[in-house]
Amino acid sequence: MRRARETAVREWRNQDSADTFRARLGPFPALIRRSMTTRITFLGHGTFEILTAGKSVVIDPFFTGNPAATLAAEDVSPDYIIMSHGHGDHIGDVIAIAQRTGAQVIASHEITEWLGARGVPNTHAMNTGGSHGFEFGTVKLTIAHHSSMLPDGSNGGSPCGILLRLDDGTIYHAADTGLFYDMKLIGEEGIDLAILPIGDNFTMGPDDALRAVKLIRPKRVIPNHYNTWPLIDQDANAWAERVKSETTCEPIVLEPGQSTSLS
Ligand SMILES: [Zn+2]
Repeated sequence: MRRARETAVREWRNQDSADTFRARLGPFPALIRRSMTTRITFLGHGTFEILTAGKSVVIDPFFTGNPAATLAAEDVSPDYIIMSHGHGDHIGDVIAIAQRTGAQVIASHEITEWLGARGVPNTHAMNTGGSHGFEFGTVKLTIAHHSSMLPDGSNGGSPCGILLRLDDGTIYHAADTGLFYDMKLIGEEGIDLAILPIGDNFTMGPDDALRAVKLIRPKRVIPNHYNTWPLIDQDANAWAERVKSETTCEPIVLEPGQSTSLS
């Protein structure tokens, strides 16, 4: 699994030098441009690494104590970390990774304050509905119907979903949430890839996640937040078959450590 990730990072580094080359020489032929697409790697539970525009962005870095993780916290070196909410299975290793790498942590105001008090100096506070441009693209935090207490009982503010507008498409990571009809508004932004929870009990289950696909109308969808513990066991392939038969969306079931491209 680590070897696969090393290959992905090597491709990404090549892409970085390709960007410099392109800046000098102008547009690349289509064949070369194809190798410059955003790469999305599922790291287990709700954790994803997104390699885009020469940057590594990790969402909800939960490795230590995550039965689904195929990497350790020391194996990732993001430039940016985005947090959806304050629960332990999402905050995870954020402090150790941010302190080791200097990665900027993007999260709700309450979470960035909490991290700042714990020795994470490089943070960017946002809140629901706000957008901000970063080196890799634009982040917009959406509503999510969940809770967000931090591990020590502190208030983590509002839980959020994450909308990423990148060079080659738009990703919506719904994070932990129940179904809500305003997903239709998020879908109006034109979603190339949705990441939806299907685990049930703490979040949407398979039935509501299928209804979410119908509201959002993404081109492709990745299920997450399932099979980490027995309480959220689900048959993702069976869900994918339902998505295929009832919608025009293409489901992509990733095992932890597996990747896909955005375009
Ligand atoms: Zn969770």
